[in-house]
Amino acid sequence: MQSQATPADIEGVCAKIVALGFKPHIIPGEQRTAIGITGNPGPIDPAEFESLPGVADAIRVSKAYKLVSRETKREDTVVRVNGVPVGGERIVLCGGPCAVESREQILESARAVKAGGGELLRGGAYKPRTSPYSFQGLGEQGLRYLAEARAETGLGVVTEAVDIESFDLVESYADCVQIGARNMQNFSLLRRAGRSRKPILLKRGMSSTLEEFLMAAEYILAEGNYNVILCERGVRTFADHTRNTLDLSVVPAVQSLSHLPIIVDPSHGTGKRDKVIPMALASIAAGAKGLIVEVHPTPDRALSDGYQSLDPQQFAVLAEECYALADLLASRRRVPLAVD
Ligand code: PEP
Ligand code: MN
Repeated sequence: MQSQATPADIEGVCAKIVALGFKPHIIPGEQRTAIGITGNPGPIDPAEFESLPGVADAIRVSKAYKLVSRETKREDTVVRVNGVPVGGERIVLCGGPCAVESREQILESARAVKAGGGELLRGGAYKPRTSPYSFQGLGEQGLRYLAEARAETGLGVVTEAVDIESFDLVESYADCVQIGARNMQNFSLLRRAGRSRKPILLKRGMSSTLEEFLMAAEYILAEGNYNVILCERGVRTFADHTRNTLDLSVVPAVQSLSHLPIIVDPSHGTGKRDKVIPMALASIAAGAKGLIVEVHPTPDRALSDGYQSLDPQQFAVLAEECYALADLLASRRRVPLAVD
């Protein structure tokens, strides 16, 4: 739509889409609103829409994924999590433990993240663990502790929903619901996330291609939730010096194909504490809109992923260096990052 299009213009286009028997998707933008169309069995003649009031352009989307595509919406999407804009000019840092272990542990973590300069708090109350005998999370009690940490620090809460059964509960406490790597192609869970009013953090599956990743996001948008943040967290390769291989080339690749913001998880992406800060910096250099990092008050005593968790001092160093790098890049950048 044109930037000066009125709500009535948008309504008019949607009414026409409905009259044709298709589904309209109003994807808001900072400058312009895009309206996606799904449910059409074949091509639609763009001329049907070009002359409607407020329409700037009618574009036939060539990609298999439609609503996440930059063809549908050229402008970057900015997703607000508890008021924090993810995908805008500033990078956003989200920190916290792998799992919520106790009230004290999550409160201490939240204070450390806040003091270090983070804006969002992570922590799993429901954990997807490789072994059924490993700590599975505190469940609703963990969600209550996260809410308490938010009330004290003001940090928005990002926490994972591992299944449909727990989704309602997680959604009621979270500011952003995480869908983990192991669930990236859990299509019923993606559909449920698409019916949520909360933003979704979608992590890339550990062996998924870029197209599969974008298609997973498409499931969420297709149900009407346009607030999706993508997250690269490393993929499986032959390399065994790290837990996963952080595929940073996916950052500019996503940015040329999709308007959705992408952040990076250098904790799961490396699995090793001493690799987290270097790869965090590399992520920012590659154009990531933010980071999600594991931080624990006493990493050596963590119930999960301690070996990749930073202590509060290390998180403060990461934040200081990443903000400095982002500022430097913003001040030096003469041309926008590649979007073809
Ligand atoms: C997590 O972030 O807690 C997590 C389990 O990550 P992933 O789904 O990327 O393995
Ligand atoms: Mn973890």
